[in-house]
Amino acid sequence: MTTTGGDAPLPSARAGLDLYDTTLRDGTQREGVSLSVDDKLKVARYMDGLGVAYIEGGWPGANPKDTEFFARAADGELALDHAALVAFGMTRSAKHRAEDDPLLQALVDARTDAICLVGKSWGYHVDEALGVPREQNLAMVADSITYLRSLGKRVFFDAEHFFDGYARDTAYAREVVLTAAEAGAECVVLCDTNGGAMPWDVTEIVHGFVGELSCDVGLHFHDDGGCAVANSLLGIEAGAVHVQGTANGLGERCGNANLFTILADLQLKRKVPLIQPDQLERMTDISHTIAELCNQTTPSVAPYVGHTAFAHKAGIHASALAKAPDMYNHIEPADVGNRQRLVVSELAGRANIKLKAQEFGLEVDDAQSRAVLDEVKLRESQGWTYEAADASFELLLRRVTGLLPDVEEPFRSLHYRVNVSGGDGDALPGDGPAEAILAVEVAGTRKLGAGEGNGPVDALDHAFRNAVNGTWPQLDQVHLSDYKVRILEATAGTDAITRVLVSSTDGSQVWDTVGVHPNVVEASWLALSDAYTHAILRGGWEEPR
Ligand SMILES: [Zn+2]
Repeated sequence: MTTTGGDAPLPSARAGLDLYDTTLRDGTQREGVSLSVDDKLKVARYMDGLGVAYIEGGWPGANPKDTEFFARAADGELALDHAALVAFGMTRSAKHRAEDDPLLQALVDARTDAICLVGKSWGYHVDEALGVPREQNLAMVADSITYLRSLGKRVFFDAEHFFDGYARDTAYAREVVLTAAEAGAECVVLCDTNGGAMPWDVTEIVHGFVGELSCDVGLHFHDDGGCAVANSLLGIEAGAVHVQGTANGLGERCGNANLFTILADLQLKRKVPLIQPDQLERMTDISHTIAELCNQTTPSVAPYVGHTAFAHKAGIHASALAKAPDMYNHIEPADVGNRQRLVVSELAGRANIKLKAQEFGLEVDDAQSRAVLDEVKLRESQGWTYEAADASFELLLRRVTGLLPDVEEPFRSLHYRVNVSGGDGDALPGDGPAEAILAVEVAGTRKLGAGEGNGPVDALDHAFRNAVNGTWPQLDQVHLSDYKVRILEATAGTDAITRVLVSSTDGSQVWDTVGVHPNVVEASWLALSDAYTHAILRGGWEEPR
């Protein structure tokens, strides 16, 4: 590779480098991910809003949910502004002619302009998994593409297990992709289905096919060797013009190539204008929202979009960060819709506290920052930690400095009682069905609520919501996304204490709170109270960007 800088044009420079999203098909292969048809429609709208070129919706005919998705999309429920919708399926079976093949017919019935066909390109798979002569597999590829082209469809061809096939049986792998190109595929997608391809092989192989094939070359990588994004970028450098991936790298095993990382790398580092800047600014939000829909969380260390992607802890950075943020950030976080955060700990100096306050849109003077720092140090000696609990830290800062006067606390906890029953005898304490009764004071009025739940924390959550029922509608959108308990060892003169960290979300924002107490239920309640208070009050606070 030449040593061109980031502003130099790509070797393959052409206007149409296409991002192809397969979250709804390959992404849903991730363990624990199951999307309803409504969820799938939502994910498609978000990815379209981001500005990708193609959205693969699923495999019509292979399962009823995907068939329904395409029917509802075609009937007008999915109006896409940017992307073309693609139906995915396999080449014809060995026993049918293309025009009689029921699965190909299901693809036609999906009523998309574009279809992505997957076929075997590793001879070993043809012999052992498919069990047909190799010549017949070539005919299945050619017939299927020719037939769909004759109906006016755009056809992409996913060469399954291509990189493994190429390594073990180069001649046959080549024959398959050349066959697909000659039959009229618009793009032949070289797939690393097992995810073990290495960057030093990718460049050479992809480069070899660009120019030789009569069609575009595309890429589809999995992350089993930790190289899915790197392989995608190198494949593009080598001349591929179509790259497949998923939101947040969702996908089977270790996942697919993370399309968000690829997108930001290309747009911000390689200066390839794939989408509009305002679309890129929505990426962090879209990442977290899609993770929610998939019942996952965006990994906090995810490049660009993670919660800690621009978090800084070392006190020594703080003053420099204030002067020149670009000294410690590789990009401007706002460009991808994320933000820089300072992490507060007892290691912090007053400069950190002041900068942290600025993140919340607050100015504090020297005396205030010293008071906050003293309080943080005292609490850390008691087992509290604010490194992973920004929302609790903001509340502490406002309380200590008087920026949140006592009279403005939205509610005051009066008392609660929790009963946990052991059930069938083998339930862990705290894990079985629980009931809670809780009293809080809101604007001088005592409010009482009862709740049942799966464990005491869940029961308290329900009891609180019942007690304040309807007072703050924004709480309806809020739920716990993570709950961590840590028992801190007893030290001289103290009993063991429990630290609880709670992550809450309203679907687009995530905030973290902490509670510490010898009793796990009380520690949980302290963390929950901060989470509610943050959700209730932040509407009235200036949102930092
Ligand atoms: Zn795949």
